[in-house]
Amino acid sequence: MLSEFSLISRYFDRPLRHDRHAALGIGDDCALLTPASGMQLAISSDMLVEGRHFFAGADPAKLGHKCLAVNLSDLAAMGAAPLAFTLALSLPEAVEEWLAPFSDGMFRLADQHGCALIGGDTTKGPLNICITIFGEIPPGLALRRDAARAGDDIWVSGTLGDARLALAGYRRELKMDAPMIEACAGRMHEPTPRLALGCALRGIAHAAIDISDGLIGDLGHILKRSAVGAALNVDALPAGPVLARAPQDLRRRFTLAGGDDYELCFTAPVSNRIAVLAAAHRSATPVTRVGSIEAGNRLRLVDAQGGALDLQLDSFDHFSSP
Ligand code: ADP
Ligand code: MG
Repeated sequence: MLSEFSLISRYFDRPLRHDRHAALGIGDDCALLTPASGMQLAISSDMLVEGRHFFAGADPAKLGHKCLAVNLSDLAAMGAAPLAFTLALSLPEAVEEWLAPFSDGMFRLADQHGCALIGGDTTKGPLNICITIFGEIPPGLALRRDAARAGDDIWVSGTLGDARLALAGYRRELKMDAPMIEACAGRMHEPTPRLALGCALRGIAHAAIDISDGLIGDLGHILKRSAVGAALNVDALPAGPVLARAPQDLRRRFTLAGGDDYELCFTAPVSNRIAVLAAAHRSATPVTRVGSIEAGNRLRLVDAQGGALDLQLDSFDHFSSP
């Protein structure tokens, strides 16, 4: 069995490759980060717990990707650029066959985004992975949840619902064969954080959030924080390639309330429509206009003709869901 220190040095302590801002990495009591002069730090933590956020026995390489991806996604939703992250890991035992692919999966994504692992903590216990990520953004340009204004367009990036469809397959809520589950499972296990889009939307979008618990709930956070309402065109929501072939009712439910997509939902003034499309083009990220922000505090769901839809939906809430 590996000791705590040989485990850290073997799987997590690498020479700093992205040391633009990390002056000191793993090995001391603290890491040292030197923020670029005049920039704000954007900081976020996300914890993934076995049995809650991922199945026991989940593929460690995919898990390594996902636990960093969900943190990078929070930076994307703020319009921030990644600098560095820390990893707090609780592990039942130090199994090399798990640690090697886990750290490979995590570092592959970290290297794509020039984000260095600069420290953390390791302890024995139930499998629990907590990353804290540090990013930077010029003051005043963060895409905050409280910045939506009545009249704004509502946009989403990419497609929604395939991660939820994979979950329905695993849980046997729907009859799906293995190739079909496989076709949408990539969205669930290896989400793509929309960092390039987030940065490209600085100064163009008003509010943004990443869709982790389902569009309805996550857009709801923007509405509440911004004290506004919205009309959402349910039939304009871009379904994932597998879900797009499903019946309308399922498509509507899973695009609206399916979690784990990690796309961005953002609002922008109508006068910035062309600028939004240019930002999407620059960042090679598709975006779709799906509704508008209204005065008031209601979220109205409408169909393609603008008719009211009354759908019973809840997005995922860890304390009220079974
Ligand atoms: P301390 O006793 O000061 O908390 P530790 O013995 O826990 O320090 O950790 C030693 C060094 O290894 C520290 O620099 C810490 O940041 C780093 N470290 C510990 N666990 C991890 C991990 N899972 N990933 C990255 N760095 C880690
Ligand atoms: Mg420690």
